[in-house]
Amino acid sequence: MIPSQKALVPFVSVDNMMRLVHHVGLDAMLIRIADAIEADFLRWEAFDKTPRVASHSDVGVIELMPTSDGDLYGFKYVNGHPKNTAEGLQTVTAFGLLADVHSGYPVLLSEMTLLTALRTAAMSALAAKYLAPKGATTMAMIGNGAQSEFQCRAFAAICGITTVRLFDIDEQSTAKCARNLATSGLTVVSCKTAQDAVNGAQIITTCTADKQYATILTDNMVGAGVHLNAIGGDCPGKTELHKDILHRTDIFVEYPPQTRIEGEIQALADDHPVTELHDVFAGRTTGRRDDKQITLFDSVGFAIEDFSALRTVKSAIQGTDFFDDLDMLADPDDPRDLFGMLQRAK
Ligand code: NAD
Repeated sequence: MIPSQKALVPFVSVDNMMRLVHHVGLDAMLIRIADAIEADFLRWEAFDKTPRVASHSDVGVIELMPTSDGDLYGFKYVNGHPKNTAEGLQTVTAFGLLADVHSGYPVLLSEMTLLTALRTAAMSALAAKYLAPKGATTMAMIGNGAQSEFQCRAFAAICGITTVRLFDIDEQSTAKCARNLATSGLTVVSCKTAQDAVNGAQIITTCTADKQYATILTDNMVGAGVHLNAIGGDCPGKTELHKDILHRTDIFVEYPPQTRIEGEIQALADDHPVTELHDVFAGRTTGRRDDKQITLFDSVGFAIEDFSALRTVKSAIQGTDFFDDLDMLADPDDPRDLFGMLQRAK
């Protein structure tokens, strides 16, 4: 029995998320999420901020990512299990929730596996809009797994990238990525080595999954003027770049207390200077200064980005049927008569 209309919570399933993205259009969805992230980063002080709460195991991590702007509260549940793909499972899966701060009642529950890929790509491209060299046309995409096509499409839609150079240690991943991008309008070049992939690229995205200090890029592979978008190093003990690269780059981060634990900069001293992206977006500090500068977005994924993505979905489903109403809150007519409601249901 459904207790009361007002307690129903809109739920966006994976199926409905796919319908929604096709309805809005992939590029338009990426742009809407990037705009929402930028707008939320511009009101940085309004948000409750905390590093995500991580539960580590030998094979992966499960994390909760909460934030609130005082009106809406949001959290994401997300895992990261690099060994999963060998077992036919996703490395990253997620779901998330928005709630009304004033009543505490949820106002949206959503799948976030697809939405995380969209928001991570939107955030990467948004950062690159401020940090990548002007007129960049070519991106190396190292790691061609679940996130990769989303990254390529966001850089095309938001930064004007026209060519992507793919590399993965697994040739089948590269073939899959190339196939999925075949009709995207991007020129796709499949490469045999990471060194080959970075040739002529003004932007290098690393998006590999391995729970270790990996060296996806060595110092000699990163020339002057390049923008690095390092996505995959997002956990303690998990990085992608050789430490020497970090000493040659200007490093931009989402939220330093989380990035110092999880990002590439975990390899550096705690007081190594970093720039917060919200300061760049607000014009309080410079992004790219000159053509020779090497910029690094040390991406780990921050709760506000998920909040922005969730509120984009909440607004995009208005007037559509791309959601189900979930009876997930007990809401008796007499709020103190929870037990009576149970009894009457017998
Ligand atoms: P995935 O498992 O689907 O793909 C990872 C790919 O990396 C695989 O194809 C694998 O073969 C490849 N790879 C592994 N080691 C490599 C190497 N040395 N050189 C080249 N390729 C290599 O994972 P995914 O969902 O695409 O996620 C990739 C990474 O991004 C994960 O570590 C994940 O935690 C991280 N991630 C970060 C954010 C963020 O906001 N920063 C968001 C989502 C995912």
